Amino acid sequence: MDFDVESVRAQFPALQQEVNGRPLIYLDSAATTQKPKAVIDAITHYYQCDNANVHRAAHALSSRATSAFEASRQLVADFLGSPDPAQVIWVRGVTEAVNLVAYSWGRSNLNAGDRVLVSTLEHHSDIVPWQLVCAERGAEVVAIPVSDEGVIDQAAYDELLDERVKMVAVNHVSNALGTVNPVKEMVAKAKAAGALCMVDGAQAVAHWPLDVIDLGCDFYAFSGHKLFGPTGVGALWGRRKLLEAMPPFFGGGEMIDRVSFDGTTFNTIPFKFEAGTPHIAGVIGLGAAVKWVQSLDRDAAAAHEAQLLAHCDELAQEIPGLRRLGPDTNRIGVFSFLLEGTHPEDLGTLLDQQGIAIRTGHHCAQPLMSRFDIPGSARASFSLYNTMADVEALFTGLRKVQELFA
Ligand code: PMP
Repeated sequence: MDFDVESVRAQFPALQQEVNGRPLIYLDSAATTQKPKAVIDAITHYYQCDNANVHRAAHALSSRATSAFEASRQLVADFLGSPDPAQVIWVRGVTEAVNLVAYSWGRSNLNAGDRVLVSTLEHHSDIVPWQLVCAERGAEVVAIPVSDEGVIDQAAYDELLDERVKMVAVNHVSNALGTVNPVKEMVAKAKAAGALCMVDGAQAVAHWPLDVIDLGCDFYAFSGHKLFGPTGVGALWGRRKLLEAMPPFFGGGEMIDRVSFDGTTFNTIPFKFEAGTPHIAGVIGLGAAVKWVQSLDRDAAAAHEAQLLAHCDELAQEIPGLRRLGPDTNRIGVFSFLLEGTHPEDLGTLLDQQGIAIRTGHHCAQPLMSRFDIPGSARASFSLYNTMADVEALFTGLRKVQELFA
């Protein structure tokens, strides 16, 4: 079945605008995706009709807000393939999810001499929290090297996996290069070595269906705003036994069973990890986003995205001095590159003048940039609402920039 990109695009109000007198070509979905009207309407509906705090009051609005809030948890649980919605914890996004696991699990499980393996492809949010907790516990963060193509070196990974390793943290897809990592195999190896494995799904969830049970991981995290949902909300999925054994991360209202000055007991999961008033509108918006994405033919959407990237790679070969980063295969959503004679920052500004939005810089992956000995790159990133015309506009734009510098 063909993917009807025009009818999908029509559902995204922000894509219908002009920027600098040109129709917007939005190629920054790896930073954040645009939002369909279904998501915007769900958030507006909550604030206009159901606005109340959740889980607390007996009145109608609170009951409606709570139902919508918990319905979103079930939607996300189904989306991830979780057997139980209680294993889905609301967080602000991947950053908070990694901090939660690093501190809650790490403080009680990491000891002097232990190791946390992270790949060189990781976003800073999957490096720094581990560094902080390891420094506190006398443990060590060790990087798994990547090849010149930007692929995790599996032989080096095998070698690093010894009894000192307690956790492997790896992203499903690299935000800087688009590399799709063989996480299922990596999880299996980690488990065989007696380590846990946390997968950062920030760049994966918008591209294909997921099944955390099939992946075999212990924790999986994603951010709503990269899945057509609102900013400030995301989900951490974890194995029940681990979550139940972990101490709370934040203390406050909602996460308790009983509070007294003689000692406090805690709520069951997921509430043990959800102190304070949550981002209710965000959670409801995220539920709407999941529902929206599930309503699509996801195989057709993935095939459409693969065509966009293939067209991009094809056109790139016609641009002299363009160096593409990342692997030729097993890559999704991202076209990361350098253009000879142009600084990525200038490139970003000059493309913006033509209405084309890309991202430039280190993409919060400085260790990876150091690996390639570059300060940063230009990155065009695609989502299911992009068209072949968007890809062509990017290359027309690049040619114009080259003419300016000729
Ligand atoms: N991991 C990856 C791979 C990412 O792309 C991002 C966001 N750029 C994050 C983690 C952090 O996500 P957030 O800022 O939503 O917490």
